[in-house]
Amino acid sequence: MNCDNKIKYPNKKEADIAAVHNSNTTKQDLQVAYKCNKHQCWHTGHPKDYSDNPVARIYQILDGNKSSKNRKK
Ligand SMILES: [Zn+2]
Repeated sequence: MNCDNKIKYPNKKEADIAAVHNSNTTKQDLQVAYKCNKHQCWHTGHPKDYSDNPVARIYQILDGNKSSKNRKK
């Protein structure tokens, strides 16, 4: 994910506050604060934006396995 243009927050507290402000609860458009190792700071974004997040990646792989298994039986 390219986060060069994202706003950089110095700590989780500020990023959390910004994430709440950026979230649109009526549209289920929720943002979360996450630490960026590249910029050594915090960003806000959508949970599914974590293309470099190993946990999210695992879920994607699991979902892929599930659908291919269910394809024919
Ligand atoms: Zn970053």
